Formats: sequence, structure tokens, C-alpha cells
Amino acid sequence: MSAIAGNLQAVIARIDAACKAAGRAPGSVRLLAVSKTWPLTCVLEAAAAGQQAFGENYVQEGAGKALATGAQNLEWHFIGPLQSNKSKAVAEHFAWVHSIDRLKIAERLSAQRPATLPPLQVCVQVNVSGEASKSGCRPGEALALCQAIATLPRLQLRGLMAIPEPADDAAAQRAPLRRLRELYEQLRAAGLALDTLSMGMSHDLEAAVAEGATIVRIGTAIFGERHYA
Ligand SMILES: *Cc1c(COP(=O)(O)O)cnc(C)c1O
Repeated sequence: MSAIAGNLQAVIARIDAACKAAGRAPGSVRLLAVSKTWPLTCVLEAAAAGQQAFGENYVQEGAGKALATGAQNLEWHFIGPLQSNKSKAVAEHFAWVHSIDRLKIAERLSAQRPATLPPLQVCVQVNVSGEASKSGCRPGEALALCQAIATLPRLQLRGLMAIPEPADDAAAQRAPLRRLRELYEQLRAAGLALDTLSMGMSHDLEAAVAEGATIVRIGTAIFGERHYA
């Protein structure tokens, strides 16, 4: 077995154990393999081991991998900061975007989504760590932003995403994850049809599953430590 295949198995075992500990159905959490900075060969190795959904942070890199694997039925998720001038490539090459933090970018993505593709599946990124973090909308802005996005014709609003500040102990990890889940429940109670909580990375996967994550985004635990060029 390749190293990546073995790491994937170990991550899937962590997810299953966390589901069991939380009394959640096995299979209620989807694994997104975050392949940013890793070459196409690593993606292909993970795909050969059965992984279907991949996450990327950089538009050019991700679009290139999506194009190169076009025949393989992989699903590409954009999870990085998104600038207006790059939105067209995202609308054309990705199935999902997790990192929408303002209406303008959502409107562009809806306008630019090709008619030949299904609606773009989107999550709104929320800043649940306060001053410590700059990415994501403020929790108090999420309802209005989600309501506006829900009216856009070529987007399908699926849920919320967050990248909490790293913390070591379980209680500190869980606090911001819980804030995201509570906000998600409030938005659902307000009538929004959401089914996705995108939270949990290599270091806080268990805390995220315990707090209700439906997609975990895992890079390091699958591919190894990243080295930025
Ligand atoms: C890089 C990244 C991940 C993966 O993080 P790991 O700690 O390597 O698992 C998840 N989500 C986002 C938004 C990222 O940028």
C-alpha cells in the first residue's frame, strides 16, 4: 500500500471512531482531501485508493488539477480566499466553493457558472474566532448573506464553513466549532435549507465531528507536511 493510501485509511478510521464516540451514524461525515501544494501524482494516488473529493486553495493550481483529472469523476472544492478577478475560473472548474464571505463574490460566481454545469454548491465562511482571524463574514452578517445567496439562480447554498484559530486542548478547539454549529442551527430555524457544516482539519478532526461537522477538510494527515515554494 502507498503511504497516501495508508494515511487515508487512518484518517477514515479516525472519522469512524469520532462518529462512534459522538453517537453519529458512520458515513455522516464526508472526507475532503486537501491537496494544495501537492503534485498531481499525489492526487492520483489518493484517487486510486478511493478518494473522490479534493480541496484546493489556489485557483490556478486547483483548476489545473481539475482539468488534468477531468476524465476521472473527481469532485473539486475551492476552499481558499477568493478574489473577484479569479472567480470565473472557480465557477468553471469547481463543483463546490466553501469560502464565500461577501455577496459580491457570490453574485459573480452565479453569473459566471456555465449553463452546462450543475449549480455551484456553496458554503458561507464565518469568522468564529473574532479578532484573531480576518477571513469569513461576521456571525451577525451570516443570516442576511445566506438569504441573499439563496436567491441566486446558479448557486445552491449548502451551509457554513469556518477555520478556527488553532488551539491545543479539546475544550478550546470545540468552542468556536460549537459557535458555528449553533449559528447553523439558527439559520435552519430561520428557514434556510442547509445540510453542510464544513469544519475540522488534521488537528481538530475529532472536535469537529463531535460538534456536528458534515465535511472535514484534511490535508496534512493524508499527504504530509506542506512545503510552500
Ligand atoms: C490547508 C487547509 C486545510 C487542511 O489543513 P490540514 O491542517 O493540513 O489538515 C483545511 N481547510 C482549509 C481552508 C485549508 O486552507
